Order: sequence, then C-alpha cells, then structure tokens
Amino acid sequence: MTAVTPGLVCAHHHLYSPLARGMPAPPETPTTFQGILDQIWWRLDKALDFEMLRWSAKLGALEALESGTTAIIDHNETPSAVEGSLAIIAEACAEVGVRVVTSFGVTDRHGPMGAKRGLDENRRFLSSGGRGMVGIHAAFTCSDDTLRGAAELAEEFGVGVHVHVCEGPEDKDAVPRLEGLARDNWLLAHGVHLPTDHPLQGTILHNPLSNLNNSVGYADPRRFTNPVALGTDGIGADMIEAFRMAYFLHRSVDVTATPDTAWSWLETGWDLVPEAKNDRVLWSYDPMDPWHIAFTPGIRPVHVEVDGKIVMADGLPTKVDPDEIRAKAAEQARRLHARL
Ligand SMILES: [Zn+2]
Repeated sequence: MTAVTPGLVCAHHHLYSPLARGMPAPPETPTTFQGILDQIWWRLDKALDFEMLRWSAKLGALEALESGTTAIIDHNETPSAVEGSLAIIAEACAEVGVRVVTSFGVTDRHGPMGAKRGLDENRRFLSSGGRGMVGIHAAFTCSDDTLRGAAELAEEFGVGVHVHVCEGPEDKDAVPRLEGLARDNWLLAHGVHLPTDHPLQGTILHNPLSNLNNSVGYADPRRFTNPVALGTDGIGADMIEAFRMAYFLHRSVDVTATPDTAWSWLETGWDLVPEAKNDRVLWSYDPMDPWHIAFTPGIRPVHVEVDGKIVMADGLPTKVDPDEIRAKAAEQARRLHARL
C-alpha cells in the first residue's frame, strides 16, 4: 500500500546556499542576526561564481526531488554572478525535473549600480518567459527608489515580489516602507518581528528551522490574517521536516495545537504554485495524514511524476545521476571554501 499526494512546494528557498555546509568558521563568532548576515551569508554570497551556483542549484533541486518536493520558490543572491544567474537556476532545476519560481533579491548593499544589476536580472529572466517573480533582499538593505523600482517591475510583468520581511529586529521599518507597495501576490518571508496587526498584503512564508537556527524568535504565524505557507530558507527542501518543525513549534506555545494547522500552511504552497498540485508523489508510508506524519520519522518518496513525466522511480531520480551531482557539488564547495 502506498499513499499518493501532489508534489510538495517549498515556498522559500535559496538554491545558492547548499554549498555553505562545512564552510570555514567566520573570523568572529556572530552574536546577532546582523552578525550572522555579515559574517556568514554576505561573505558567502559574494564569493559564489556561476559554476558554483550551477552545481549548488542542481544539488538543491536533487534534494528537493528526494524529499517529494516538486516545486521550489527560490530567492537568489549572488552579487558577483548576477547576469544570467536566474537562467542557470532554472536550467539546473529543469535538468533534475523539478519546478522553480525564481527571482533575484535586489539590494543596495553593493551601491545603486548593484541594485540596478539585480533589477535588470529580474527583468531579463521575466522577459525571456522564465517562471519568476521580482526579488527584494529586504527593506533594510534597499533604498526607497529600489523598493519602488522592484514593485513597478513586478506590476509590469503581472507577478508578485518575493521579499524578506522582519526576519530580525534590524528590519523593523519594513512595514512603513513596504506599506502601499505590497500586494496580494507578494511573498513575505519570515515575519518574525512583524506586528500582528500589520497592514501588509501577501502570503507570509514561515521558515521554522531557519528561525531556530538564526535565533531570531518564533514567528507564530497563526496570529496573522494573511495566508501562511512553509519554506526552508535554504536548509534543504524537505517539506515533511518543515511541516513537523512548524507543528512542534506551534505546539510549544499552545498545547491544544493540532498538526492540521501546520498541514494547512503546507497546503498553501499549492495556491502559490498550482502546477504542483497535478504532480504525483508516491510515499514510503501510508497514510499521509497530518497526525501520522507528525510522529513518523523517515518518510521518503518512492515514485515522483512532474508534469506527467516520471522523474523518480524506485526511490531514484530518473533524469540525473545523483552521485555525479553530489561529487561535482563537493568539488565546487571546496573551491568556494578555499575562497573564504
Ligand atoms: Zn531567506
């Protein structure tokens, strides 16, 4: 007996991040969220080149498939490898056989020219017919001109904006700065420090593992009237794991919480990438019911179909060689770590 579900959706991922694993320790141990950005992510993203990004994205896509996740909403930040980066990510995912909705996270961290290059990359990818959104890193690293430019670009292409909002206390001004710009089709990642009665439209992307890892606090997303979806923020794309973590965190503040709430957040992913609803995943466990899954470790997909094509059979990817992807990604990770 095997249970079948649609393909799962990871609503917030960074396919540039898988090669970070095992990177050399930063010069100083960060003690704040800003310190984690300065010492880890902003050193790492700057060091990535196109070849590293290609294998990082392939590894991330492979890990998604191996978790029964057939759609990834990606947010890219590679300031030294901008032009064409989104096409590389889209190619990598297509090769593995999973769907991706990608965007370039624009920022003024590298000056106004850097922000313009990011906006241009979003435009380039969307103009070429790519399945994408417009990315903004976060309000606190962008000028008002950049925020407006991104919102206008999204409007022009009829897509939403994918932006980090109030992940840490550093981004406390995000609400007044994004108010009036945010629309229903925007994706607001994290919202940990977002006031409960905020006026921003859009879907909140809850990333329980990442929030725990960055010590930023619990977002408690049930307090918002916005729709809520689940992401990983770059820590793989295992949405069963994300669901379990979301449930246990919810339960930690409310002993009457049931897994149905976290499961409904997982299901919101199908509103964001409706195509994934037609994908089929056969699982190693039956039944795929929230109360079962919350307490059952090690559930794996055994057969996956995306867009009617078999991309996993007998637990193995059919389009790519997973050993080759892992070996090439490890090679690129060594180059990246040497650079750091
Ligand atoms: Zn993120």
